[in-house]
Amino acid sequence: MSEHHEVLIIGGGTAGITVAARLCNLPRPPEIGIIEPSTKHYYQPLWTLVGGGVFPKEASERNEADFIPPGATWIQDAVTTFDPDKNTVCTRGGNKYTYDVLVVAPGIQLDWDKVTGLKDTLGKNGVCSNYAYDLVDSTWGFLREFRGGKAIFTFPNTPIKCAGAPQKIMWLAEHYMRRIGVRDQSDVIFASAGAGIFGIPHYARPLNKLVEERNIITHYRHDLVEVRPSSKEAVFRNLDDSSERVLKFDLLHVTPPQSAPGFIKESPLASSDGWVEVDKYTTQHTRYPNVFSLGDASSLPNSKTGAAVRKQAPVTVANIESFRAGKPLHARYDGYASCPLVTGYGRLILAEFGYDGVIMESFPFNQAQERYSMWAMKAYGLPNMYWHGMLRGRV
Ligand code: FAD
Repeated sequence: MSEHHEVLIIGGGTAGITVAARLCNLPRPPEIGIIEPSTKHYYQPLWTLVGGGVFPKEASERNEADFIPPGATWIQDAVTTFDPDKNTVCTRGGNKYTYDVLVVAPGIQLDWDKVTGLKDTLGKNGVCSNYAYDLVDSTWGFLREFRGGKAIFTFPNTPIKCAGAPQKIMWLAEHYMRRIGVRDQSDVIFASAGAGIFGIPHYARPLNKLVEERNIITHYRHDLVEVRPSSKEAVFRNLDDSSERVLKFDLLHVTPPQSAPGFIKESPLASSDGWVEVDKYTTQHTRYPNVFSLGDASSLPNSKTGAAVRKQAPVTVANIESFRAGKPLHARYDGYASCPLVTGYGRLILAEFGYDGVIMESFPFNQAQERYSMWAMKAYGLPNMYWHGMLRGRV
């Protein structure tokens, strides 16, 4: 079977649906097809709070069908290959789809297999992760049972979605341990492949202060390479001298290595490191002008977050409109990303920055300070804004 769409969108996640909704809201919307295999749509930023026991995981889940904008066609299938010279994609279901304009937004791939012994022990033996819907319950389960010991929180040596998430759950866990009175019998360890607590100095400063005040043990340039469930050991490679370090754990929260999805890496659309290769300002492909990409799968060199997608989507839509009208592309994305750094229950530092670490704060107060108001915004304001505003193409 072969079918044509004026605009074909790959992925009905945060980026795909936001772009589709904005295109459908145009005075003269194009005809749209969305290829998305999943019947469910997830608000992943909530998983941090699910792992901390604040919300049940079901609060982050909706039916995909309810967010396909009226007028767009949902193709429940998964793309396997691209032939951009022939404006064609092929799917797992054996079908071919052609397009005038292609938007590629299939998100990021979680490479659990890259850590030896990890996959088989996820959700067991105190090993958990907030990075998948079917695992996020295990984080809260192990935290609730925790009665002192060593709790390790990892950060891999790859780009990841939401670079703040690996430490957000650590701050919640540390606060929880204090609440239930086991903090004195516990080591809280941040074992990260990164060189510091956070990449933007403006926010790293207050976070380092918290590391000191809350007695967090840090091991930087440490990359998790193996989990030994029977002996409850996590094995790290020191990225500076390649030495091995083995740490005992009672609770191990893993942020898995991540990369571009395999079918993107193998496609003609990929850059040398696998992402969909686009101009960092226009989101247009550098070699195929009728192809656009945004979100986690794109080569846009911003911090990979839903907040970034919110700013990329209007730029992509404006540039698709210009492209279809044969006009130059004027809309520009400035690299904006935001990271609501949960630093405990009822506490949050709201980091907002653009390309080259330029600070781009929204509020007229010092956002590098922990605040309840910013926590309330994350827990109650942003989920509503996502479901009712962003995915409807309104904000
Ligand atoms: P996704 O939303 O992941 O969507 C990708 C879609 O593509 C999926 O629906 C998938 O099924 C589909 N797909 C995959 N393969 C194919 C295929 N072959 N064919 C067709 N479709 C396919 N962001 C924030 O802004 N703030 C936060 O506080 C925050 N916290 C986070 C905490 C955690 C624990 C996690 C995991 C993420 C967090 N994020 C946060 C990141 C945010 O969720 C992502 O950056 C965002 O969802 C990226 O949007 P996307 O559309 O690129 O990818």
